[in-house]
Order: sequence, then structure tokens, then C-alpha cells
Amino acid sequence: MTQVKDKLLKGNTGNWEIVIGMEVHAQVLSNSKLFSGASTQFGAEPNSQVSFIDAGFPGMLPVINEKCVEQAVRTGLGLKAKINLRSLFDRKNYFYPDLPQGYQISQYKDPIVGEGEVLIDLKDGESIKVGIERLHLEQDAGKSLHDQHPDNSFVDLNRSGIALMEIVTKPHMRTSEEAAAFLKKLRAIVRYLGTCDGNMDEGSMRADVNVSVCRVGGYDKFRADGSFKNLGTRCEIKNVNSMRFVAQAVEYEARRQIEVIEGGGTIRQETRLYDSKAGETRSMRSKEEAHDYRYFPDPDLLPLEFGADWVESIKKTLPELPDEKKARFMAGGLSAYDASVLVAERELADFYEELARGVDAKAAANWLNNEILGRLNRDGLSITDVPVSAAANNAIIQMILDKTISGKIAKDLLDIVWTEGGDPRAVVQARGLTQVTDTGAIDAAIEAVIAANPDKVEEVKAKPKLAAWFVGQVMKQTGGKANPAAVNAALKTRLNLPDEG
Ligand code: ADP
Ligand code: MG
Repeated sequence: MTQVKDKLLKGNTGNWEIVIGMEVHAQVLSNSKLFSGASTQFGAEPNSQVSFIDAGFPGMLPVINEKCVEQAVRTGLGLKAKINLRSLFDRKNYFYPDLPQGYQISQYKDPIVGEGEVLIDLKDGESIKVGIERLHLEQDAGKSLHDQHPDNSFVDLNRSGIALMEIVTKPHMRTSEEAAAFLKKLRAIVRYLGTCDGNMDEGSMRADVNVSVCRVGGYDKFRADGSFKNLGTRCEIKNVNSMRFVAQAVEYEARRQIEVIEGGGTIRQETRLYDSKAGETRSMRSKEEAHDYRYFPDPDLLPLEFGADWVESIKKTLPELPDEKKARFMAGGLSAYDASVLVAERELADFYEELARGVDAKAAANWLNNEILGRLNRDGLSITDVPVSAAANNAIIQMILDKTISGKIAKDLLDIVWTEGGDPRAVVQARGLTQVTDTGAIDAAIEAVIAANPDKVEEVKAKPKLAAWFVGQVMKQTGGKANPAAVNAALKTRLNLPDEG
């Protein structure tokens, strides 16, 4: 099966559409847990951060952590969502060895945040909107450890009771690229907001990915009348923990479903797991075996209520978010693509802004993309460990623009300060890297090259393209310090070359 035009997959019996909706669990950034004062620090000794509440001792009363509520509201505002001034906590009952309470406190019918939206940025610079259904607060469970002892399993309750935000999208994604782009954008938003660290490899963010396939036109009908009957039956792939795996799981699952249907079978609603080693999804449990959680309002907790003025006061503290930053960068002269790459990480955007101060936006973006990111990538570093500050890079770009140094020397200069440190302007002075615009010096270099290559002088008359070779030789002769434009002009005159060519 291959992807044919746009968002369609080609099967044996015709084209298919994929439809994807996601439920993302994002751990709230907060020093203590949702209903207890125990620490949330990652990587602590097992069971060293557990209060009586987190351990499910009888008679303990949960007390809501205001910071976690604020973080949920903040996230809701970042998702341009409706904030519900009154919401309810329910008990979601199930048995699990790492769930000592025997239930999870969650929000069911009345979540703290309602409908919102996220704009996702695709490779071609296009943006599409993904609807958010809701965001609710809930407790995380503990963790069973099966690899500590040959016969026994252990339980670590450090995670038990940590606040999670479950963010549920509408089924508005259509390709694996869109699904991965959504998760990337959501992660950028919560990181900008400071409400979740977004570290997927530490489990701070994990996605349940719902996938279905339908015949061409089904999705548009669904968007027109809102009826899920237009869509195929979905399967939910649990706990996918990287963007790459989300994309792979969607691809595999969509193709699997098409094969089942085209083979005369039907898709049953079920929960599946993505095995990243095998590159396939496998059934975990069917809808019939699904839990009946017997939700009911938690009798220990009053409805959660706050005023619109409190929400307003939080709104005032929101930072500039990726979309707004992107729009501002585009207004400053960047393409949609360049701008969306830069705003994907707040640290990168901040670096760019300092780098671009007082210089051409496009020149700064190119310098960042080609020179800095290239070197970081080579050295396995991220933007936060960049060895040459944004201000120092800004000085280098300024020296190119005011013709103090050539573009070629600028790259060498960056290499020098990258490994040896130092102030770029001082290095230029100390090593005499200033660009040669003095025509006398350039003419002398030209004469030297001509004297060494009389045959080439004959050739260039017939093949004006060879002029570029002469420019290269003269640059070499001057140690890369000659101003290329000046060299070009001088060569044209000296060799009697036509203006174009
Ligand atoms: P549940 O309450 O059983 O988890 P929801 O209706 O809340 O079900 O949907 C859960 C997720 O599944 C949402 O992200 C939603 O967008 C997605 N979803 C629902 N129907 C489909 C479908 N037919 N195809 C793909 N995703 C779907
Ligand atoms: Mg669900």
C-alpha cells in the first residue's frame, strides 16, 4: 500500500482515508502532588516520595493543590480553550497492584477545561487546526517493577498521586505526519507555558493514539454533520512515548485495518499496544473486556470552583506562544517554514531573537540553520549548550554585513571561537582576518594567478564560465580574505570578460 495523493492510502479495492484522535497524558509541572504534599522529583529512590494519601491509607483526606489547578487553567488558556469555573472530581474504580486507593481521582463529566484548538505546522509550511475536546486533571498511578527480583514484583509509589492533565483531541488528524506534528506542537505549547516538561523519555508525556479508516469522503461528511457514523471503527494504541513511534504506529495500524476490511473482516473496537522493536501493533483487550470504571463523584472533594477574575490574572502571565511568535517572525521577513522551525523550541526562538538583533532576519535564520545547528548536530549538542553565545554570533553576522570579513572567513572564525572561545571581533583583529577590499592587493593576487596559469587565460576567453575558477584561485591567494564582489569586478576588467557569464 502506498500513500497516494494528499491524505489517502491506496488499498486493493480503492482508496482509504485515515482518521486519528489522540488522548495525551501530560504530567503537571509542580513541586508536589495533586492531593498531597509529597515531592514529584523524577528519579528518586523508590517509595521515598509517598504520603499516606498516595499510599491509599484509610481515612486520609485529599486536599487539592492550587498550583496544579493553576497549571491546568494555564494550559487550557494556551489551548485557546473554554475554562470551566466549576468542575467535579470523580472516582474511577479499578484494581491494579500499583493503585493502592483502588480508584483514581479523575474528572469525568465535568472537566476543568472544555473545547479548544491547536494549530499544527506541516513540512510544506501549511498549518491546520486540530480541535481539542477537553482537558481534565487526574492522579497518576504507581509503577510495578518486574525486573528487580526473579520471583517477585515490586511496587514504587513515587508516581502515585502526581497530577496529570489528560488532553483529548477531536478526531481531526489525517496522516501520521499530522499526528506527530500535533504531539510536537502540544509539547512546544506546554513547554512555553511551563506547565509540563514534555520529556517523553521520562514518561512526562505519553499519547494514546486512536486510529480508524474509512472510504473517501467519510471524513468530510463527519466534519459536515458531526456524526461519528461516517467514520470507521477505531482502535486505541496505548502509551506511545515518542513522536516517531506515533507516526510509525499510525502507519502500521491504518494499513492493518485496511487489510482486515479488504480481506472481508471487520474492525472490532479494541485497545492495542505498539511494539516499536517489531514495528507493529498488537491487541491488548477488546471493547467487551474493557473496564467498567463505575465512576462516581468523590465524596471527599467539593466541586472545584474559582472566579473569572482568577482566570484573567493567570491569562495576564502567559508568555508569547509559538503561533504568535511565528507570526511575528514572519512579519519580520521569515518564511512560514523557517519561522515554524525556530519557534518549535523556546530556547531556539530566544537564541534566534538575540542573534537577529539589528541584522537582516533571513541572514540570521540562515546563519542559525546552516552554521550553528549544523555544528551542534555534528557535536551532538543542543541549543542550550551552544559554545558561542547569540551575541557573539550576532557580531559575526554584523561583520559579514558591514564587509569587515568575507562569508568564507566568517565560517572559519566561527570554528575558531567554537573550539577556542574568545570575542569574535578581537579574534578578527588579532589574526588579521579583515576582508581585503584594497584593490591594489586584489590586483596583485590576480596578476599572480594569471602568471601561474597562462593556459587558463586563453581558455576563459572561449569559456566565460571559467571565471568562477579564477575567483576561487584569487580567494585562495588572499587566504579567503578578499571581498568576492571586488575580485569579480577586477577579474572582469582584467580578463576582458562580458558582463554576464
Ligand atoms: P472514550 O471516552 O471511549 O475514550 P472518546 O469519544 O472520548 O472515547 O474518544 C477518545 C478519542 O478517540 C478522542 O481523541 C477521539 O477524537 C478519538 N476518536 C473517536 N472516534 C474516532 C474514530 N472513529 N477514529 C479515530 N479516532 C476517534
Ligand atoms: Mg478515553
